[in-house]
Amino acid sequence: MAESNIGKNSTPVRRIAAPDGAREPLKANIFERMQIANTQLVPLFPYLGRGAMVPAGAMIQGGPGVDYGQFFHSNTVDEVVLVFGASGSFVPTGMVMIGARTHGVNSFLKNQTDPASFAVISITQRQADAGEQLEGYILRCTKCNDELIKVEADVTPPDVENSAADGPKVFETLPETARMAEIYNDGDRTCRKCGTVNPPFPLDRWGWTAYTQQSATAKAAWRELVNAKAGSSKADAAKPGAPASAHNHG
Ligand SMILES: [Zn+2]
Repeated sequence: MAESNIGKNSTPVRRIAAPDGAREPLKANIFERMQIANTQLVPLFPYLGRGAMVPAGAMIQGGPGVDYGQFFHSNTVDEVVLVFGASGSFVPTGMVMIGARTHGVNSFLKNQTDPASFAVISITQRQADAGEQLEGYILRCTKCNDELIKVEADVTPPDVENSAADGPKVFETLPETARMAEIYNDGDRTCRKCGTVNPPFPLDRWGWTAYTQQSATAKAAWRELVNAKAGSSKADAAKPGAPASAHNHG
């Protein structure tokens, strides 16, 4: 690596430490990722541990009868929104914004029933380096705005990031938001303040349940492979003269 002259004879050159190997550098194209995503707020990279930057993708699409509803989210870390491409949206292509620590989340579309309206955006948060990381998920009355339900969750990131040893990670905000919506949908949706019976939350449109289920299956399948490898190693070891490479399939 060439030495830089910047800072020579004056202030020392500041260098970013080389990657430590815990997070292999990766790149992702958000448009390609959102073609196959199963949820809103899908992590674009598999790194969710302490100090990780977590860009997550969302794709909103208008259409006949479409209603994403609205929920409120509180987070102890900042969220940076970047609009990669949008039409018929309150957030224009190229816009960057930092959400308030408690903010409303909805479709961002001016007319959700317009099939020509859409938005592809990223929401990026940086996992806390230390201490606990907390989130809250809130639904409010569609008529008087009073709080209908609030669920809080400890989403403190794991210290160690090792997919090879632990299998696929779960972006904990997604199962927790799904849990809030399920509790609300299964309960009495009548507003205590104004008596309005509020509609069910359109959980399927957000994909959190699909993500949660597929995460569990992916993890279970990963475990089967690890167990199979351990089992075949044991069987090979019991056979005298078994070739050492027989169980070395990765
Ligand atoms: Zn109300």
